[in-house]
Amino acid sequence: MDKLIKSIAESGSFRAFVLDGTETVKTAQEKHQTLSSSTVALGRALIANYILAANQKGDSKITLKVIGNSSFGHIISVADTKGHVKGYIQNTGVDIKKTATGEVLVGPFMGAGQFVVITDYGTGNPYTSTTPLISGEIGEDLAYYLTESEQTPSAVGLNVLLDEEDKVKVAGGFMLQVLPGAKEEEIARFEKRIQEMPPISQLLTSQDPMDALLTAIYGDEPYKRLSEEKLSFSCDCSRERFEAALLTLGQAELTALKREDQQAEITCQFCGKHYLFTENDLEGLIEHG
Ligand SMILES: [Zn+2]
Repeated sequence: MDKLIKSIAESGSFRAFVLDGTETVKTAQEKHQTLSSSTVALGRALIANYILAANQKGDSKITLKVIGNSSFGHIISVADTKGHVKGYIQNTGVDIKKTATGEVLVGPFMGAGQFVVITDYGTGNPYTSTTPLISGEIGEDLAYYLTESEQTPSAVGLNVLLDEEDKVKVAGGFMLQVLPGAKEEEIARFEKRIQEMPPISQLLTSQDPMDALLTAIYGDEPYKRLSEEKLSFSCDCSRERFEAALLTLGQAELTALKREDQQAEITCQFCGKHYLFTENDLEGLIEHG
């Protein structure tokens, strides 16, 4: 089961989130039938979105838009503060690997663009914050966003590892933040450990991935686990929501739709679920709308 653990150094100078998002990215790949590079890019964005949501207090929704100008197009995802995420990538068919190593490539196919975070506290006034894409690898883009936009020096590592058949093997990552009052020598120790850390994909394939990540971050410095939350890919779409969307077309449009197509089929972009509205359903909407 996917989870996110929040932790803090006993000195109070650093905090870290570590998360396992393997099932989430597996589900996303199955729902969207993504090929290798698209799977890794979408998976990394979903993990980044989990981290952004875990960084919020209270009940809110965080939309992440990674908008590139290359092959992937855009990636859109939405996470809430209860551990749910949903998301999709515009181009599901990008499949590019280094010939020598088989490493799946992401950054060059994201291109230049923007990392957009929209926070909605349910007040009707969502707050939008944007930073440029630094590398298009998404982990670095998130670290830059957190450091620049939220003024908190942050290190991020996240990845998705595929098996020989390009199915998701493991997915997850971490975020480490410096808290006010951290001493220089302490910062230097953490920086050194982050630089010397084994690849995320290697840590994620160890027996206890969460423990391996925490050990890589804290070394032998004492820390506390603050909380553990369950995570899952979960879409909140419903027939009622799409009915409401159809009603916004207005009577004239709906009547034209009924006459020309005799039905309406709507597919949820986030999870691929199909909703069919028959001629009778449309008639009902026209009468009661
Ligand atoms: Zn859906």
